[in-house]
Amino acid sequence: MKITDIAVHAGGIDQPYKTLGEITAKVSKASLFSSSRTIEDVNFKLQEEASALGANAVINVSYSRGMSLMSYEVLKAVGTAVVVESDEVNCPFCAETIKRVARKCKHCGSDLAAV
Ligand SMILES: [Zn+2]
Repeated sequence: MKITDIAVHAGGIDQPYKTLGEITAKVSKASLFSSSRTIEDVNFKLQEEASALGANAVINVSYSRGMSLMSYEVLKAVGTAVVVESDEVNCPFCAETIKRVARKCKHCGSDLAAV
């Protein structure tokens, strides 16, 4: 998986996921006269952090801008690194791809409620 494939969501998601932990990323202007860092810059840092943890998405991301003593302008992002589970699984009987919430396999007709 490429780092840029990691999804960054400002809010939550409605798919099942496993929480790995909170991550933060910070970028700052190189000098007083260079252009401000963008959300894209800090998102990439966030994706790098998430990738290092083995996450495939970052949710509940919030951004804040501020000044610090050590840098001219700081853009900070805080989010939760998660592993989003696919909403599709393989049927235990015929191995075809089916919805996770399926009660009956659409390919082989097996009853999945008991599994
Ligand atoms: Zn099946």
